[in-house]
Amino acid sequence: MAKPVILSVDDDAEVLGAIGRDLRRHFRSDYQILKAASGREALEAARTLMSRGTPIALLLVDERMPEMTGTEFLREVRTLLPDARKVLLTAYADTEAAIRGINEVGLDHYLMKPWDPPEQHLYPVLDDLLGDWAATFRPPFEGIRLAGSRWSPQSHALKDFLSRTLTPYAWIDLDTDGATRELIESLSPGLKRIPVVLFPDGTALLAPTTRELAERIGLQTAAQQPFYDLIVVGGGPSGLGAAVYGASEGLRTILIEVAATGGQAGTSSQIENYLGFPGGIGGADLARRATTQARRFGAEVVTARGVAAIRAESPYRVVALEDGTELKCYALLLATGMEVRQLEVPGVEALTGAGVYYGAAPAEAASCRGADVAIVGGANSAGQAALLLARYARKVTMLVRGPSLKATMSSYLIHRIEATGNIEVHAQTSVAGVCGTARLEAIDLLRADTAERYTIPASAMFVFIGSAPRSAVVGDLVERDELGFVITGPDLLRDGKRPKRWPLDRDPFLLETSVPGIFAAGDVRLGSTKRVASAVGEGASAVGMIHKYLESV
Ligand SMILES: Cc1cc2nc3c(=O)[nH]c(=O)nc-3n(C[C@H](O)[C@H](O)[C@H](O)COP(=O)(O)OP(=O)(O)OC[C@H]3O[C@@H](n4cnc5c(N)ncnc54)[C@H](O)[C@@H]3O)c2cc1C
Repeated sequence: MAKPVILSVDDDAEVLGAIGRDLRRHFRSDYQILKAASGREALEAARTLMSRGTPIALLLVDERMPEMTGTEFLREVRTLLPDARKVLLTAYADTEAAIRGINEVGLDHYLMKPWDPPEQHLYPVLDDLLGDWAATFRPPFEGIRLAGSRWSPQSHALKDFLSRTLTPYAWIDLDTDGATRELIESLSPGLKRIPVVLFPDGTALLAPTTRELAERIGLQTAAQQPFYDLIVVGGGPSGLGAAVYGASEGLRTILIEVAATGGQAGTSSQIENYLGFPGGIGGADLARRATTQARRFGAEVVTARGVAAIRAESPYRVVALEDGTELKCYALLLATGMEVRQLEVPGVEALTGAGVYYGAAPAEAASCRGADVAIVGGANSAGQAALLLARYARKVTMLVRGPSLKATMSSYLIHRIEATGNIEVHAQTSVAGVCGTARLEAIDLLRADTAERYTIPASAMFVFIGSAPRSAVVGDLVERDELGFVITGPDLLRDGKRPKRWPLDRDPFLLETSVPGIFAAGDVRLGSTKRVASAVGEGASAVGMIHKYLESV
């Protein structure tokens, strides 16, 4: 971290030079000594230092400055720099202003000019004030800082992206942090463009998209080539499995992921049943390891880029990205998984991202400290989220439609939930609506057995009510069932007959769709086992079949 700053402010160059010399002589080993020739210049400097995360320990300001007096300047920075020690340089005639300043601007001390000899009049006072400051100072976070409102969907989206890519960052809630709020106001007047991401080099991104943020933190967001042997659409466990095996077996492979890699598994706080991790592994950690592994074998992993459409132009398969860019390949793997079903009750749409979240417990857990939160759903994913949130929240209420958790949740999770004092399970209970103006405040509930209606307070509600396949991207190109699952292999054969437009003299491979060269793996595939291990296994197996397919292209 850069040394903390002592900033002296005076319009008189001679006085500024003299105070600078004296300060340097005594304090330069521990502090940077900076100067400004006016209140305005000092304000600018303070904002720049703050945006870089450099702390300001002390302000030494002349009262008599033409454009803005010393006390006016200190009043301006009162919320911006609440912790900096504030000293006014005064002439005898300014004593009155200095005494008023003690109350009005939180002045810590006033010094009479001249301060000679400094050993007697300057250093003892400043040593004392800086000692005080250092005793209570907490060094600012040195990495990326994300400043926004807890109740803004955009802030939530960036938090989720940073958490899921395991990018270290500090969250600053502008609703409660006045100093940063003032800094952000100066970058984005009226806070019109938030959230703001502050980088350690002093630069900032105002209301960026996840793609802009991904680019800025050094993630690949564009393909390097126009053509690949294998394009994998979706970066969950099955896509990552295919990328690792495809690249390691010599295929020119690219994986394209609309959000962060990891898929549903990446949103899980702890995966306990994945082979090789007896103590469990966080979903984001598993995703990071697999992404690194795929890259190490030479796969390109593009994140924050969605695939909008897929078509076949034999012998090529063409992928159109959301911005119109097209990429071609010989073989394509659809690994787009599933997404959480939307809860369709009054109020939910307006409050999504502002207290109502789909999955996303890891990104929001720390913000739920001391709060009352609810979880909708009774499957394993809901149970994992409840255990995570119980570490932060005052109370976690699980809202479960069935008579108990037994039918839907693994027993190891049920035992842990029972042993956690601040989790309460409301069985036979469904959400009838949610209330709140700018953010979630309460949830209306309905008990199925008694028809009782009641309301519980909650500042966050996490929804885990089952999932639907994400296969819209293939449109009518490949066969899907009525729910949208992609049909592959033997399931495509009706009365022993191959699909209508199937052009080859062989049956579709086990994981091949109704279009040769387009494969599907993981949760999006009809009949798949909805588990991390089986998704990874299908991704890997698909690569074997892709090799066979490529022999004939
Ligand atoms: C909270 C939670 C906890 C879970 N815990 C466990 C557990 O403990 N153990 C276990 O075995 N299973 C668990 N599961 C299930 C497991 O995570 C899934 O079975 C697995 O992730 C499926 O992997 P997948 O790659 O097929 O699909 P997904 O994980 O759904 O990944 C699909 C990916 O494709 C991307 N995508 C979708 N459309 C596009 C597009 N058009 N362009 C680009 N990218 C796209 C998505 O953003 C996503 O990242 C859990 C699931 C959830 C939700």
